[in-house]
Amino acid sequence: VMASMAHLQKEKLRLQEELLEVQEKLTARENDELSLSLQLQGQVETLKEKLLEQAQEISRLRSELGGTDAEKHRDLLAAENERLRQEMKACEGELRELRWQQQQAPCCDCPHLQENAGLQEQLSQLQREAEETRAKLVELDLEVQQKTNRLAEVELRLKDSLAERAEEEERLSRRLRDSQETIASLKSQPQQIKYIIKTVEVESTKAKQALCETQSRNQYLQEQVGMQKQVLKEMEQQLQSSQKTEAKLRAQIMMYEAELERAHGQMLEEMQAMEEEKNRAIEEAFSRAQVEMKAVHENLAGVRTNLLTLQPALRTLTHDYNSLKRQVRDFPLLLQETLRSARAEISQAIEEVHSTNRELLRKYRRELQLRKKCHNELVRLKGNIRVSGRVRPITKEDGEGPEAANAVTFDADDDAVLHLLHKGKQVSFELDKVFPPQASQEEVFQEVQALVTSCIDGYNVCIFAYGQTGAGKTYTMEGTAANPGINQRALQLLFSEVRGKAADWDYTITVSAAEIYNEALRDLLGKEPQEKLEIKLCPDGSGQLYVPGLTEFRVQSVEDINKVFEFGHVKRVTECTNLNEHSSRSHALLIVTVRGLDRSTGLRTTGKLNLVDLAGSERVGRSGAEGSRLREAQHINKSLSALGDVIYALRSRQGHVPFRNSKLTYLLQDSLSGDSKTLMMVQVSPAEKNTSETLCSLKFAERVRSVELGPVSRKAELGSWPSQEHLEGDSPGSAAPPGRGHASPSPGQLSSRSASIRRKLHTSG
Ligand code: ADP
Ligand code: MG
Repeated sequence: VMASMAHLQKEKLRLQEELLEVQEKLTARENDELSLSLQLQGQVETLKEKLLEQAQEISRLRSELGGTDAEKHRDLLAAENERLRQEMKACEGELRELRWQQQQAPCCDCPHLQENAGLQEQLSQLQREAEETRAKLVELDLEVQQKTNRLAEVELRLKDSLAERAEEEERLSRRLRDSQETIASLKSQPQQIKYIIKTVEVESTKAKQALCETQSRNQYLQEQVGMQKQVLKEMEQQLQSSQKTEAKLRAQIMMYEAELERAHGQMLEEMQAMEEEKNRAIEEAFSRAQVEMKAVHENLAGVRTNLLTLQPALRTLTHDYNSLKRQVRDFPLLLQETLRSARAEISQAIEEVHSTNRELLRKYRRELQLRKKCHNELVRLKGNIRVSGRVRPITKEDGEGPEAANAVTFDADDDAVLHLLHKGKQVSFELDKVFPPQASQEEVFQEVQALVTSCIDGYNVCIFAYGQTGAGKTYTMEGTAANPGINQRALQLLFSEVRGKAADWDYTITVSAAEIYNEALRDLLGKEPQEKLEIKLCPDGSGQLYVPGLTEFRVQSVEDINKVFEFGHVKRVTECTNLNEHSSRSHALLIVTVRGLDRSTGLRTTGKLNLVDLAGSERVGRSGAEGSRLREAQHINKSLSALGDVIYALRSRQGHVPFRNSKLTYLLQDSLSGDSKTLMMVQVSPAEKNTSETLCSLKFAERVRSVELGPVSRKAELGSWPSQEHLEGDSPGSAAPPGRGHASPSPGQLSSRSASIRRKLHTSG
């Protein structure tokens, strides 16, 4: 049953875990989707970046491809190769282009650059030289011009002077002729003249004057002729010098012309050389340009192939990008879809879990009932009466020395066995359970917990604390404020259990407190504590007993119980001068009644929990007590014996149970018979000085417990319970019931017991 319970519990836990798992999965999936979307966005980002890079690369390549313009230009220039100047210019342009390209291109350390620079320099030098030569030529030209001009001038002057001279000559020759004619004429006419002269002389002075005049004129003319001759001579000289100068000039001109020719030839040569140089330079530049062009072409081809290889990559990238974009676009839809499906799944799962829960609850209820049945059966098989022992620790009150020495030892493997050293002999006892001194109140309560809970199910329960005064009965039942005993813990447990069942059940818990002193029952919570209460049969014929006038307090919380306990205590304190003395001589009862009503079925249950702190079990009678002490002792002895008898009769399932032999058993009759459950907690002191009483208590406990169960023992054990006085035998075996030589169980006894249980199981089906 426990296993199945545990299994069910496990299953329930598992289902809850599953539910949690499903929820976790959902959150995980949501997280996943979120992270996926983030990842996709990141991928899109990187793809965009790549695209940008590609575009840049393409544009760069395109700009590089732009070089074809230069190529065309160059082609054009090649066609116009004759026009050297233009070509040179083109070449220079090309060179510039190339230099730019080289600057653009990563190959900065190209040797062509330096070569180019050298050539450029040479070219410029040559150009300079050509310029100089040209300038010189122009200068020479100018000089030649000047000289020719001067020559022309001189020639002109010469011509002029020649013409002048010719004119003069002509004039002079004419005059000469004239003069000669005149002279001739004159010669031919000398008589005449003489005559004339004579005539003149004869005739007049006038002729003489004219002769004079003519003579002066002749003289003058002769002078003139001389002068003219001189001039002529001069002229001739001048002509000669002119002619000389002319020859000189001519030679000079010739020289100049030769020089000019030479210069011209030189210039032509130089020009030729320069041209050749230029051609060579151009060719070189051209070839270099071609090589570079080739390299550029190769580069271009590489770039083209690169581009070609890049294009598919770009295509795939764009494709990827598009697909990703699609995915991203579709993602919210997908997410919604997934979320919807997940939600549906979860709701389905929850529904399933709910249904399983319902099913489980149903099963659980069924199992609960089964468990209750089984538990009862188990308890019945184990016997409804359990006997436990509790050994208190050695306290200050035990004093010091050998008297306070510990006389009780335990079995390490078996928590039901206890050894007592009495008068040098070790006696072993076996109970249902033994609590060593170090056992806490909580541990003790654990043992009785099941009994307390069964009270809620409508069972009657009795828990007794038995033992000599000072063995810890009150400690076990009431405990201290800091460490409460069974009473308070039981009520606390009842409260919590009732609260747990509040959904289906209504419960009322009431408490009464009473004491039995000298066979008189008194209400500890009533207004008249001295009043002796009577126990009566219920008039309804149900056979139930009740105590008219016994006060009942309804309690709902721990505070309520504390108030009730305090109230009861105060009563007891005010009533008695010596509380401990009195309390050890009376039985104190706490009666808790739990009444339940199942709201759904209307079923009513009533369970009673009787918590009894019995009077001290020590044998006062033997020590020759008298008067009231003797009466007390007799009453206690009687009531404890009666309790022993009753429990013995119950445990051996005798037909007659002597409940009426004492007030205590009579009062607890309905809580001891039938399905009721009883726990006897036998308290013992471990001190050496108490061993005799301890031995008595343990014997009582073992005898109560050792009653055989089942029909065989029922028939066999019809003898009466030995009276309390008979327990006083000091030797352990003397008062033992037949068949029980010593306290510890032998294998044979164990097997006979298990056989009886098996029989029991068999008969109960
Ligand atoms: P009884 O009621 O049987 O006369 P008490 O309960 O008054 O005995 O206990 C006697 C003394 O021993 C008290 O001082 C109590 O505190 C102490 N005592 C009893 N049992 C224990 C225990 N398990 N642990 C500690 N002290 C205990
Ligand atoms: Mg006490």
